[in-house]
Amino acid sequence: MPLMKAVQIAHPGAELTLVEMDIPEPGEREALIRVEACGVCHGDAVARFGTMPGIVHPRVPGHEVVGTVVKTGRGASAWKQGTRVGVGWSGGWCGACDPCAEGRHHACTDSLITGLSVDGGYAEYMVARASALVRIPDEMSSVGAAPLLCAGATTFSALQESGAKAGDVVAIQGIGGLGHLGVQYANRMGFTTVAISRGRSKEAIAYELGADHYIDAEGGDAAAGLRKLGGAKVILCTAPDAASITGLIGGMADGGQMIIVAAPHDPIQLHPGRLFEGGLSIKGWHGQRAGDAIAFSLRFEVMPVIETYPLERAAEAFDKMMAATVRFRAVLSIG
Ligand SMILES: [Zn+2]
Ligand SMILES: [Zn+2]
Repeated sequence: MPLMKAVQIAHPGAELTLVEMDIPEPGEREALIRVEACGVCHGDAVARFGTMPGIVHPRVPGHEVVGTVVKTGRGASAWKQGTRVGVGWSGGWCGACDPCAEGRHHACTDSLITGLSVDGGYAEYMVARASALVRIPDEMSSVGAAPLLCAGATTFSALQESGAKAGDVVAIQGIGGLGHLGVQYANRMGFTTVAISRGRSKEAIAYELGADHYIDAEGGDAAAGLRKLGGAKVILCTAPDAASITGLIGGMADGGQMIIVAAPHDPIQLHPGRLFEGGLSIKGWHGQRAGDAIAFSLRFEVMPVIETYPLERAAEAFDKMMAATVRFRAVLSIG
């Protein structure tokens, strides 16, 4: 049996460790992918620490995967060998359960999460369901496309379905792996884009990415800064920092909404009266439309800013991501 290199988490809390394992075989409706790039996402911490039910260890994490199809199982031959594909958080629907048979794939009773319920892309090869694959355009590099599969798909779909209109004030809290893409999407969608981060170190790059305004959350009352601009119709919270999120509630315009895409450990605090008076809402978002995000990114030149690491240095890339010291997305460049 031919072997491959992969980075594995042996048990909850274990270090990311380089191992050799069998190259997996694609089953029915599955494809074997030779991995070229895999982004390092905060969601991988769920695999590392086992903080969701249903995660079986040992596990290969990674859900921002780009590679080429090298082999397909029965029922997946529409994906030709050599086709460059991406796989995100959703590991796809099964195609065999009752809801799938009725075409209600969203209700699949056997849906998968890449890198959590099945092995992901911190490896030279991975198997993915054909239903999880999206095509990667030739114009995009594999390392450049990888962050769009989760970070891009999440921020893109949250903003696109927020109901904000061109010209509306839209704030992006946190300028990291998700936020630096959020700023670009907000700018390209025509919003008056406000970047919010701590300190001044990310101010220049935020303007370069397309921000119209920058608010230093350490340098004063960020909510007051937003009110000065008329208040935000949407605040997209990408940094899992409960204090920072709490502090922005007062910066929403009437009817405004706060959309949380990265969950802080600590609770956020709020006075419900403020929600009531302003008709405000706070919601979580985990929807991802990777294919649409990729098409939009190509058309409007949204490009991740990345640091690349070889597979052997995955643990270092993961630690930098957890410490939020990556500018702005760590991507494993494989093979
Ligand atoms: Zn199903
Ligand atoms: Zn992710």
